[in-house]
Amino acid sequence: MEVRRTAPVKLVVPDERRDDLHESARQFLHCANRAAEFCWSDDSYTECITANTTARDALYDELRDETELTANLVQEAIRRAVQAVKGCVERWKQGKRVSQPELTSWSMLYDKRSATFYRNKVSLSTVNGRVECDFELPSDSPTPYERYVLSEEFEFRASTLQYDAIDDEFYFHITTRKYDSDGDGELSEVSGDTEHQTVLGIDLGVNSLAVASTGRFWQGDDYDHWCREFEKQRGELQHRGTQAAHNALLRLGKREEAWRKQYIHTVANELVTEAVEHDCDGIVFEDLTDIRERLSQAKWHHIWAFRRLYEYVSYKAPEKGVYVEQVEPNYTSQRCSRTDCGFTHDGNRHGEHFCCQKCGYEVNADYNAAKNIGTRYARKRTHRLRSSPKSGDGDAPVNVRINGGTLNGKSHQPIAGG
Ligand SMILES: [Zn+2]
Repeated sequence: MEVRRTAPVKLVVPDERRDDLHESARQFLHCANRAAEFCWSDDSYTECITANTTARDALYDELRDETELTANLVQEAIRRAVQAVKGCVERWKQGKRVSQPELTSWSMLYDKRSATFYRNKVSLSTVNGRVECDFELPSDSPTPYERYVLSEEFEFRASTLQYDAIDDEFYFHITTRKYDSDGDGELSEVSGDTEHQTVLGIDLGVNSLAVASTGRFWQGDDYDHWCREFEKQRGELQHRGTQAAHNALLRLGKREEAWRKQYIHTVANELVTEAVEHDCDGIVFEDLTDIRERLSQAKWHHIWAFRRLYEYVSYKAPEKGVYVEQVEPNYTSQRCSRTDCGFTHDGNRHGEHFCCQKCGYEVNADYNAAKNIGTRYARKRTHRLRSSPKSGDGDAPVNVRINGGTLNGKSHQPIAGG
């Protein structure tokens, strides 16, 4: 099984260099959107360009001339656009309404050449030479350099530089991967003529706001904290009962709503970025229709957040060529997500902890559920599109797997209890 991890690290950017990063991101987006325009055709998806080399050969020199970006950043921008176009072409093939992808998020891809790691800092290419940014870390934690770059276990893949407009901070998201022996699905087993799709499963939980099948958590602690703060202030104002307090209460309500929306927008953006960075074609949620009944222990502000999060992701993701789907939520928290197990029992879950009574697999319960959500969709699609799970040729089979575990035609099993 391929395991990918993304670690966000806060950067200390020298004040006088912040504009260089903003300008770099602007030019990065310019390149990506130029490439998207070049690759796109409204006439037919067969006219769209989905080969990175074709786009790069056609555009590279021009974009180098037009911008001050380094070679690797221009190439990464083109690559990102090609991925977005590919995703849209996939959706088009499925008969969905698509248009030329527009890349809008503040995010730049760095490879090993455009970002150089040091023990406590990283040096990044910008439109104005390199900038060195210290990592802001708790004093006792290992540095990203120690954890990922020096690690024998993890292989460094890529990083993205992101900007959080709310707290006006820059974050470096470092993605690494390792192969572990858990599970029977090896990526290399999949035959070459199969069309591959990867999905990201998302669990909206009680313990965390959201958990992705890649193992990334959105804890939501600060969200809870601020909801309580707003409630406290509201209580005080209501208690006072004056006209001035009443007006302040109205203003507070507006501020709270704006704050909540902004928070969920940020999580939605990060979730879409997680899918894009992990080469996922789709994001899969549980059906939220009965969520209030199912998650009776969830707080009301979480239910609100879940619905908003789904809504925001379903309009932001297609901009990046990523589709959004929902699956039936039944038993996703009780089923063992190990590829070769799938045992479903309500005794498998104990609060935040999942322990399979059959195979002994122990893991965080929300992460287990996120993997099941992705798996359920992957199995549904793969079964629908391929007549015989055993045949590897004939009609172009579609192979859908989740990121966080793998699935392929050779290891299909019926869904237990599903
Ligand atoms: Zn199991």
